[in-house]
Amino acid sequence: MSARYPFELNEIKAALHQGAIQDIFIDSMTPLGVEVERSTRPTSIELSKDESELTDPTSHPVCVTLQKLGKSEDESREEIIHAKFVVGGDGARSWTRKQLDITMDGEQSNSTWGVVDLTADTDFPDVRNKTFIHSNHGSVIFVPREKDRIRIYVQLEANDVIDPVSGRVDKEKIGPEQILKTAQKALEPYKVIRKSEFLWWTIYSVGQRVASQFSIKNRVFIAGDACHTHSPKAGQGMNASINDSRNLAWKISLVVRGWADMSLLSTYESERRKFALDLIAFDKMWAALVCGKPLTVPSSNGVSPDHFLKTFQTDFTTGVEIHYQPSVAVNDRNQELAVGLVLGKRVPPHKLMRAADACPFELQDLLPSDCLFKLLVFTGDFSDPLQQARVESMVTDMQKPESFLNRYATPENPRFDVITISKGQKYEFGFLRLPTLLRSHWSKVFIDDTDATGSFGGGGYLYLHYLYYGVGSEGALVAVRPDGYVGAIAPLDRVEVLDAYFASFMKIAA
Ligand SMILES: Cc1cc2nc3c(=O)[nH]c(=O)nc-3n(C[C@H](O)[C@H](O)[C@H](O)COP(=O)(O)OP(=O)(O)OC[C@H]3O[C@@H](n4cnc5c(N)ncnc54)[C@H](O)[C@@H]3O)c2cc1C
Repeated sequence: MSARYPFELNEIKAALHQGAIQDIFIDSMTPLGVEVERSTRPTSIELSKDESELTDPTSHPVCVTLQKLGKSEDESREEIIHAKFVVGGDGARSWTRKQLDITMDGEQSNSTWGVVDLTADTDFPDVRNKTFIHSNHGSVIFVPREKDRIRIYVQLEANDVIDPVSGRVDKEKIGPEQILKTAQKALEPYKVIRKSEFLWWTIYSVGQRVASQFSIKNRVFIAGDACHTHSPKAGQGMNASINDSRNLAWKISLVVRGWADMSLLSTYESERRKFALDLIAFDKMWAALVCGKPLTVPSSNGVSPDHFLKTFQTDFTTGVEIHYQPSVAVNDRNQELAVGLVLGKRVPPHKLMRAADACPFELQDLLPSDCLFKLLVFTGDFSDPLQQARVESMVTDMQKPESFLNRYATPENPRFDVITISKGQKYEFGFLRLPTLLRSHWSKVFIDDTDATGSFGGGGYLYLHYLYYGVGSEGALVAVRPDGYVGAIAPLDRVEVLDAYFASFMKIAA
C-alpha cells in the first residue's frame, strides 16, 4: 500500500482512540486562540433569499441564533451571529441538515452490532492484533487498545435489540454482559474472561446513507457524519469526516481572504459527495464480508481469509485512492508529463534529497494545508545547456506581469510556494546556480540522488524521484492545491496552462 504510514496501530501497538485524536486538534487550536464552546446549541438558522447578498462574498447572509446554556436558566443567554458561511459538523442526526431540509438517501443496514471496551484474561493468541473472526455463531472483531484494553465488536441478532415500534436500537434490551457472552460463544474454544469493569459499551445499527446535498447556496455546508453514515467496521467515518473538512476549509478560507471566486466552493459537494457514494458502495461490500459465514466444507460459499484480507488492504481504506474528477480545481491536461502525480489525487509520500545539506526530506511535509498553492518545478538536468535554457525561459515567462505568479500574488501577499526538484548528484549539484525564483529558501531545492548511507532512493540509482513521479528528462510544472491534491500539470514551456488553471477560480491580487 502506498500510504505514508502503512499500518493501523501506533508505536504502543494500539489504535489511538477518537478522544485522543480530538485532543490533538483542540491542543493545536489553543495557541491560535480558537476554542470549542461547549454547552452551546443553535436554535434557528436563516439564509437570506436576496441573490445579490448570496453572491457577494463580503456579505453575511446567514443568521444563526445560539443558546448558550448556563448552570441555571438565569445564566443561559442567547447570541445572534450574522455569518458569511456556516458549517454543520453536527453528526449523524445533524440539526443543521434537518433545518435545511436536506434528505439522506439510502437505507438502514440490516446488521446490528454491540461493542465493549474492557481488559480481559484470554488465551486467544491474536488478542493484540486487529482480528476479524467469522464463526457459525456470528462475527467478532478484536481491536487492541491503549494499555491492556481491547475493544470487541460482536454481531447481534436484530430481533434481540431493535424496538419493533420505533425501529431503533433499544439499549434496555441488551447490555455489555450479553455482548461479551455472544463474543465468548463465537470465540470457543478460546476463553475471554472479563478482568475489569466495562470501560465503555454501545449498540448500533447503521444506515448506509448519503445526504442529497452537501450545501445550500454554497453558504451553509454540512460535513462529516452529517452527510454520510455507514458502518464503522472499516474505520472510515472519522477519516472521511476529517477529509470533508480538509477539502472545505481551504476553499472557504481562500474565498474569505478574497483570493478565490465563490465558484470554487461548488467543488466541495462535487468532490466529497462522489467520495461518500464510493465509500457507501465499499461499506456495503465490506459489511457483507464481515458478516459472512466462515469458509468451511459444509459452507463452501463462506468468506475466504485471503479474499477478506485483499479487500481490506486496498488504497481505498488508506484514503490514498481518493480521486477527484476534473473541475475548476482539477485540470485534466498533460497527465502524461507526470504519471505518478495523478490529477485529482493526493501527492503520494516520497523522500527527496535536499540539495543544500544532502538531508533526506519527505515531500508531504512541504505541503501543509496553509492556504498556499505549491508549485513543484521539475527542472530536469540543469547542467545540460539545452535544459538550462528551457528552465530559464520558463522563469522569464513566470516573471511576466500576466503570469499567474504576478496576477494572483504580490510580494506582500504570497499565494504560491515554489519547490524545485532537479536532477543531479549531491557532490556536484550547486543549488545556487538555479534562478532565484526557484530557490526562495535553501530548504526548497531537492535533487534526484540518494543520501550518504544509500538508505533511500534505490541505492544510488540516479533520477529515481523522476521515475517515481513519472517525470521525464524534459521536466514538468505541477500545481498542488492547499489540501495536497494535484490540481494541474504543464510542460515547462507552457506556463499559460497554469495561467488558465488559476484564472478559472483565483482573483487578481490587489
Ligand atoms: C463504535 C464506533 C466505532 C468507530 N470507529 C471508527 C474508526 O475506527 N475510525 C474512524 O475513522 N471512524 C470510526 N467511527 C466513526 C466516527 O466516530 C464518526 O464518523 C465521527 O465521529 C464523525 O465525526 P463528526 O464530527 O462528523 O460527528 P460527531 O463525532 O458525531 O460530532 C458531532 C458533534 O456535534 C455535536 N452536536 C450535535 N448536534 C448538536 C446540536 N444541536 N447543538 C450542538 N452540538 C451538537 C455533538 O455533541 C458532537 O460533539 C466509529 C463510530 C462508532 C459508532
